[in-house]
Amino acid sequence: MRRFLVTGGAGYVGSHLVRALRARGDHCTVFDNLSTGHREAVPDGVDLVEADLADQAAVNALLADGPWDGVFHFAALSLVGDSMRNPQLYRTANVSNAAGLIDACVRHGVTKLVFSSTAALFGVPERLPIAEDDRIEPGSPYGESKLMVERLLAAADRAHGLRFAALRYFNAAGADPDGALGEDHRPETHLIPLAIDAVLGRRPPLAVFGTDYPTPDGTCIRDYVHVSDLASAHLAAFDRLDAGSVTYNLGSETGHSVREVLASVARVAGRPVPHTLADRRPGDPAALVASSARIRAECGWRARFTVLDDIVATAWAWRLAHPSGYDS
Ligand code: UDP
Repeated sequence: MRRFLVTGGAGYVGSHLVRALRARGDHCTVFDNLSTGHREAVPDGVDLVEADLADQAAVNALLADGPWDGVFHFAALSLVGDSMRNPQLYRTANVSNAAGLIDACVRHGVTKLVFSSTAALFGVPERLPIAEDDRIEPGSPYGESKLMVERLLAAADRAHGLRFAALRYFNAAGADPDGALGEDHRPETHLIPLAIDAVLGRRPPLAVFGTDYPTPDGTCIRDYVHVSDLASAHLAAFDRLDAGSVTYNLGSETGHSVREVLASVARVAGRPVPHTLADRRPGDPAALVASSARIRAECGWRARFTVLDDIVATAWAWRLAHPSGYDS
């Protein structure tokens, strides 16, 4: 049985990865301070170390207790707007803590690490779909923080042979198709869960942020990728590390506008999404769509969910079953 450490494994994407690892018989230890993660998202049989990554003693004690087959590093702050207001928080939580984790991996002989990176490091892209080697120019401290960690990983690979996969997520969406896990951010800022709650009357009408973008219907276009497909991409990337470190963009290669997402939620729910038209949200690029050609070619990864309504349907099912998220 292989043994993995998953930082942030109680969070949205991390918990889906833990589920995928366990489905293939691997043992997981989750390291999470539960600031945004949920104890209920950590299943029985998975060890939960409730600690903060800034606690270097805790990180080193755990990694010293090896051997570990690898580390999956999710624990981080992830809101662009928040990072604009509090850049120092992102420097500490995302960069310093990751640096400490990387050093601990090197010190304790961990040779493989999979890192949650982001499409946000492309800022306003020069072309679509975005390939891995396209211009990188993060428009926010959040994107900068993830870029810095990618660079720290590259340096650790050169100096110490730490193999890494940097996975740049586009818009993670949906929920575990078996209904065990879902999206529960507090505060929630993401389009699909907010639209679902607007339909259910649990939140105010959805504010559409900007209708004057240079897109066919004037609203922003994003690439929504199912969270379970992100999880399977982590496994595929990890399995490739024996051949060397990798960097992959993870999306579905299909863009959907905000209006198209609202139409999808309406089809799934069987009723329209109450919404208002609002100003642009600062920092939002007009369109972000990934090219995932590289991970498909190198790892044979394929998204299982290729239809937006199917992604939304899993999010809808989770919310109906868990109207108050993990507190339900
Ligand atoms: N969005 C919106 N209203 C909301 C939340 C999001 O119109 O209440 C838009 C947002 O401007 C973006 C898209 O929906 O174009 C996806 O936003 P989200 O916050 O889900 O993810 P992001 O693309 O920021 O990572």
